[in-house]
Amino acid sequence: MVTPQQKVVLITGASSGIGEATARVLAKEGARVVLGARRTDRLEAITNDIRQGGGTAIFQALDVADPQSVKRFVEFAQGEYGRVDVLFNNAGIMPLSPMSALKTDEWNDIIDVNIKGVLNGIAAVLPIMEAQGSGQIINTASTGAHAVGGNCGVYCASKYAVRAISEGLRQETDNIRVTVISPGVTTTELGHDITDPGAAELLQELRGSSLSPQAIANAVLFAISQPAEVDVNEMIVRTVASH
Ligand code: NDP
Repeated sequence: MVTPQQKVVLITGASSGIGEATARVLAKEGARVVLGARRTDRLEAITNDIRQGGGTAIFQALDVADPQSVKRFVEFAQGEYGRVDVLFNNAGIMPLSPMSALKTDEWNDIIDVNIKGVLNGIAAVLPIMEAQGSGQIINTASTGAHAVGGNCGVYCASKYAVRAISEGLRQETDNIRVTVISPGVTTTELGHDITDPGAAELLQELRGSSLSPQAIANAVLFAISQPAEVDVNEMIVRTVASH
């Protein structure tokens, strides 16, 4: 396998969970990681930690729902390192609820972050990667992008969209690798924003069998470590006890 040494990897949603774990794992392998999220205090602490461990990391405030913010984040990375090898489009939210609760603001938030956020990332890096003649876009979907459950309709719709967008992009390019990672239930802060009591209870039950975020980080490492002509398109990663 090619090592990710020196690759410039932009990670959205790097302030906790899967994004944080991926930043740490990739930096350990020699990648130059660029961390983005809204909670900059967290980003600063993680970045300092990575640097103290000998890794190379920078961070910038990022709201993926805002195209200008995403553009600034990518320009920041390019300005610092001169290139963009990988975008890990990972930021996401999961305020689950039954449709009948009519939490329409939360539906819109899911669409803004989980779908438009991914599109904003693609729009910001695609011209750079095309000019470079290479690059890789890794989008975080979910096992909820493969099957829909109650309370999860809008969230799953957003993740089905991530898979559709990724496949559409993949078919259009000969030199940019496109990867979708679909994690099963993973122990992170995801769902902290659930306001519906029944949905909160459901998440607690699901977390009974749950992966560590490092397991997903290792899948990202695998995808970016392949030789340039090898495009790992989809990975589902879940616990052996998931059904
Ligand atoms: P966390 O809640 O721990 O992390 C989510 C990250 O997204 C945080 O860093 C958060 O940072 C960031 N984020 C949220 N909104 C925005 C925004 N508008 N702009 C920028 N960053 C934002 O959860 P996970 O690590 O689990 O989630 C990562 C991805 O994995 C998501 O796409 C999620 O849907 C997906 N996933 C997770 C699963 C799980 O069981 N945990 C299963 C399947 C998929 P901040 O608040 O600082 O902006």
